[in-house]
Order: sequence, then C-alpha cells, then structure tokens
Amino acid sequence: MIGVVGGGVAGLAAARRLQEAGYDVMVLEASDDLGGLAATYETKGDPIERYYHHLSKSEETIVERFEELGLGSDLVWGYGSDAYYVDGVVHPMDKPWEILAYPHLSLYDKFRLGLLVLDVDIRGGIPSFDTYEKLEDFEDVPVKEFILDHTSRGCFERFFKPLLEAKFGERWEDVSAAWLLGRVKFRGERDPLRGELLGYPLGGFGSLIDALVDSVGMMDIFTGERVTDIGIEDGAVQSVTAETDLGAVPYTVDGVVIATMPDVLESITGYACDIDFQGTVCSVISMAEALTDTYWLNIADDAPFGALIEHTNFVSPEQYGGEHLLYAVKYIQDFEDELWQMDDERVEETWLAGIEDLFPDFDRASVNWIETSRSPKTAPIYERGYLEKVIPYDLSGEVADGVYYAGMASRAQYPERSLNGAFVAGETAAERLIQNQ
Ligand SMILES: Cc1cc2nc3c(=O)[nH]c(=O)nc-3n(C[C@H](O)[C@H](O)[C@H](O)COP(=O)(O)OP(=O)(O)OC[C@H]3O[C@@H](n4cnc5c(N)ncnc54)[C@H](O)[C@@H]3O)c2cc1C
Repeated sequence: MIGVVGGGVAGLAAARRLQEAGYDVMVLEASDDLGGLAATYETKGDPIERYYHHLSKSEETIVERFEELGLGSDLVWGYGSDAYYVDGVVHPMDKPWEILAYPHLSLYDKFRLGLLVLDVDIRGGIPSFDTYEKLEDFEDVPVKEFILDHTSRGCFERFFKPLLEAKFGERWEDVSAAWLLGRVKFRGERDPLRGELLGYPLGGFGSLIDALVDSVGMMDIFTGERVTDIGIEDGAVQSVTAETDLGAVPYTVDGVVIATMPDVLESITGYACDIDFQGTVCSVISMAEALTDTYWLNIADDAPFGALIEHTNFVSPEQYGGEHLLYAVKYIQDFEDELWQMDDERVEETWLAGIEDLFPDFDRASVNWIETSRSPKTAPIYERGYLEKVIPYDLSGEVADGVYYAGMASRAQYPERSLNGAFVAGETAAERLIQNQ
C-alpha cells in the first residue's frame, strides 16, 4: 500500500500513475474537498475556480491527460485579451498597433522589449539568437540588472517594474533573470495579430478534478484526514498517521508520496525547504454586467489589487447562467499586510472601493455575490539560486527509504507553478517510487 498525502492535482496524479503500475494506493486529504488550489465555487451555471486558472500553449502533459480522461474535446483554446491600466486609462496590449499606440513606452523601448520577447539579444549592435537559450546562465543575475542591461530604462520603469511589484510585492528585487526568461518562454504561443493563446475546459477545471477522482476511485480517497506523522523503522517508512474525526489513525504503508506544500512536508518528516512562499487573497465577484472588455488587466496605478481578471471576457457568461465573473487578486509577501489582516467582508469592501476608484461608472448594485479565498502559500518567490532549493522527488537520502515529494517546491513547478506542473510533479514522484521498489 502506498499512502499519498494530499488530494490536489499532484496527489491525484501520483495516485493515478501508481494504480496504473499495479499499486494499491490510499489518498489522504486533510480538507473535505478535493482539488486543492484548483477547487471551485458554484455559479448559476458551471463551477468557477476559487483562484483564476487557464493553460498556456507550452503545457503539453495536461493536454494529454485531458485526452486520456475523456475530456479532450472539452478543452478549448482562445485568445485572452491583455491590457495595462496606467494613469486612469486602460491600454489594450495585444495587437501590434495597440502596443505601438501605448504612450508610456518610447519607440526605442518597444523595439528593445519586442526583441527580448523574440529571444534576440542586440547588445553591442550585433544580433545574437542564442544568448537566452540556457536559463541556468541567468540563475544568479538580479532581474533588475538584467532588464536594464538587456532592454532599456523605460522598459524597466514603465513596463516591468509595475508587473514585478504586482507579482512579488516588495520581494521583486530578489527574483532572478532566469525566472523572467523562463516565464517569457513558458507563456508560449502568441499570434502577432491576436495575442496569447490560452486554454480552458468547458465546465471548468472542476471537471478535470472530477475525472481524476473518478479515475482513482473514491474507494481509495479519504477526505477529512490530515496526515501529521510518518513512522520510520530501519531507515524506511512503515506507516502514516492521520488525524480523523475518530482521533489519530495509523496506516501501514510501503511508501508515501507527500503532495503538499513544503511546510507540511517539514511538519511530517522534518525535511526543511528554504524556498520562500507568498500568499494570495483572491475574490470572485459575480456581476450582472461586464466591467471591462479585457480578460487580464494589469494595474500600474495605486489599487488594492495587482490585477483584475475578468474571466467572462475569455469564457462566455452564458456558461455561468449569465453571470459576469471578475477576479480581484493580491499576492501577499508580508503577513502583517493590512489586506491579509482584514476579514473577508472588509477585503470585499476594499476591492469594490478600489474598482469604483478605477472605473467611476462601476455600479455596486450590479454585484450578485462575492466569495473570497486566501491561502498563505500559493506561489514561490523565484529568487536567485532557486533551483538549488527545489525539493528532490526521492527523499530516501534525506528522510527515509520510500518517502517521495511532489508539490509546489518540485522542479516541475518552475518557472511557473501550474496544473501542468502539478501533474508532472505527481507523476514523476510516482515514477521514481516505481523504479526504486
Ligand atoms: C492565484 C493562483 C492562480 C493560479 N493560476 C494558475 C493558472 O492560471 N494556470 C495553472 O495551470 N495553474 C495556476 N495556479 C497553480 C495551480 O493551482 C497549482 O500549481 C496546483 O493546483 C498545485 O497542485 P498541488 O496538488 O501541488 O497542490 P495543492 O493544490 O495545494 O494541493 C495540496 C493538497 O494537500 C492537502 N493537504 C495539506 N496538508 C495536508 C495534510 N497534512 N494531510 C493531508 N492533506 C493535506 C491540501 O488540503 C490540498 O488539497 C494558480 C494558483 C493560484 C493560487
């Protein structure tokens, strides 16, 4: 019997792979819901993810899993519109003429930015096409130094800095240039005339979680079971202990895949990970009408949120019984942050006041409902030297034989954490276990 700790995508993917190889598995999930960060709220139509989600074209494993789970035809690809809110104006940023018309970058800034996105280094006047090939070369380069050296001060001040601040808050200067380059590559396919191609399943990612759960089988999944400990004898794992309604229950196992955040791994096994994580406060605001015509609105002006993501400008509101769905999101690096300290009601009031400031025509009466989720660990700070800190899949050397890790601190979750990365992490940990048994 293999114990899988955590019923998010990584844990379910690990369980599925182990079952395929003939193992008996038992997934132990602390909460009453499955899906972890990809869990959903109800709407008048399809469920909506608590935290915004879409796929990028560079992600292949998850597309194969949609096929294998019988959901291939549900996955649709479309162009999500991006815009930048600066000095009270929404600037669309998808089409070449929109970018050319953007008034906050000079023509020279746009030229340098365009070349970086196309992977062309023209420092010294001679174009080089392989400078950015090996991300490892940029692992120790501070992101600010890199942007100033490889683009222009205008690009840095008026394009990258507000985006980095929205993504990493006061920790943005710690981030490596390798992360930035990896992120540009990760985003993958852009049509020069239409913007970035994004994927989203009809019925939402909840249908993927349901299909994964069906594939593993509810007989082998136990919710409301928080794993608190593992038992080790003769250098190998022998048991996992879960807190349940009936008290602490020990289960005998031959191996364990811990598919949680690293702090949970540490509390269970003592293995400490040096990666710093940031938290997120994220609300879904259901409205009777659209706020903007943009999917992803980055905000450079002062606002309580770093971005507004109007989901129903990518997926039709008809999927949600006519509800228009808007995410307001802020990443939290310092847990003394005023927003983090607020209760949900005050957070929601703060978001609405912030939206009113940016969009004076916004009418609160059009809000149907707001739901807020928050979690202290939702994204790593991809700082310099990050790759040395990732947790190995096989922890036999570090913890005990038979102990494996698959989670947000796994290599597969770099340069961006994603559902695709969660599949790869879970399946890779399962593969390592299968090879070693
Ligand atoms: C704001 C935000 C936006 C995102 N946007 C995207 C996106 O656009 N596209 C994309 O692909 N991905 C996106 N992601 C990332 C994606 O959601 C994650 O990478 C993925 O869900 C991680 O899955 P996981 O299984 O590793 O972890 P989790 O989903 O965190 O699952 C871990 C599970 O372990 C359980 N657990 C914890 N402790 C214990 C314990 N002691 N015992 C038992 N169970 C335990 C938890 O309850 C949880 O269910 C986003 C995430 C966030 C937060």
